[in-house]
Amino acid sequence: MTTVSNAEYRGVWVFIEQVAGEPAPVSWELLGAGRQLADALGVELAGVLLGQGVAGLVSEAWAYGADRVYLVEDPVLGPYRTAPYARALVELVQRYRPEILLLGATSLGRDLSGAVATALGTGLTADCTGLNIDPATRLLEQTRPVFGGNVMATILCQRHRPQMATVRPRVMPLPPRQEGRQGELVRVGIALKEEEALATVLKVIEEKGKAIYLDRAEIIVAGGRGLGSRENLRLLEELAGVLGGTLGASRAAVEAGWLPPEYQVGQTGITVRPKVYFAIGISGAIQHLVGMQNSEVIVAINKDPEAPIFKVATYGIIGDFQEVVPALTEEFRRQLA
Ligand code: FAD
Repeated sequence: MTTVSNAEYRGVWVFIEQVAGEPAPVSWELLGAGRQLADALGVELAGVLLGQGVAGLVSEAWAYGADRVYLVEDPVLGPYRTAPYARALVELVQRYRPEILLLGATSLGRDLSGAVATALGTGLTADCTGLNIDPATRLLEQTRPVFGGNVMATILCQRHRPQMATVRPRVMPLPPRQEGRQGELVRVGIALKEEEALATVLKVIEEKGKAIYLDRAEIIVAGGRGLGSRENLRLLEELAGVLGGTLGASRAAVEAGWLPPEYQVGQTGITVRPKVYFAIGISGAIQHLVGMQNSEVIVAINKDPEAPIFKVATYGIIGDFQEVVPALTEEFRRQLA
């Protein structure tokens, strides 16, 4: 086996995730983060797009900052399966040798990144909240919370390449879309066989009911233990209804069974970055804050003036939510009529 020195690896790659041709927005967020890393290193930023009939996304990747897109289209890559996706990505890495490879910390990204890092024998830092280049060493500084969010650790992958990291949706800002921006397209053929896929997709069953996409919501009305009961959620639903917002919850509210787990915001829930986040009866524990503190405007409603949520709030209202929330709903209804 020939050994390749780390210096032979160049460039920053972002995996462009798509399901049935629908791109995961975290891919564009990562192109924004990847641009800064590539500029700091003085190298190119590339997107990697795997699938079938997905070439339409190439111009989107250019528009969000990719200088080049590696495209592998193959019927075996139609529905996502770990084995062929991992095989294609591993082969691309071995052929073109990027020094950094970023993926979204979605269910698909978490599955694929682990398989690829294992096959390549390199390191992987999951759920990073910060990515930087150390100019002295050119190493990727991968920062993420550890020990329940009380400590931030910066992790380096010194000996192996590529340096791999995943980032949750909405942790990085969406870069501006540059309409008409052009880049290079590299179509790559990889000999994939259906019988090596290890799994067959028999049927895709769409989830019934209203799917919630908290990480894409522009207005979130979140409730915590301070609501006291599931019945009181009605007041938050009314406020969300008037504003066209989505409900959210602290872990305490989820554990109380007032809302299902997919509504949980925070370290072990979803990271959100809405235009407006209402935190109602939520104390502001660090594990909750890490999931929502990047919201553009935070409105905190709490009867305890010392509640830590007020430290991150744009507007703080000290009071009982049973009085404050209906008054806000009424006023918004009047203003928006
Ligand atoms: P509390 O801390 O009990 O706060 C309730 C608040 O409501 C208080 O501030 C109180 O003053 C206020 N209140 C009470 N009555 C009223 C009223 N009538 N009007 C107005 N305000 C009122 N938590 C998360 O949210 N998300 C996570 O992802 C998460 N992950 C975790 C991971 C780990 C490893 C650990 C250890 C913990 C995690 N937690 C998470 C839990 C977290 O530490 C807190 O316990 C939790 O966020 C508290 O929820 P809360 O703010 O709703 O409840």
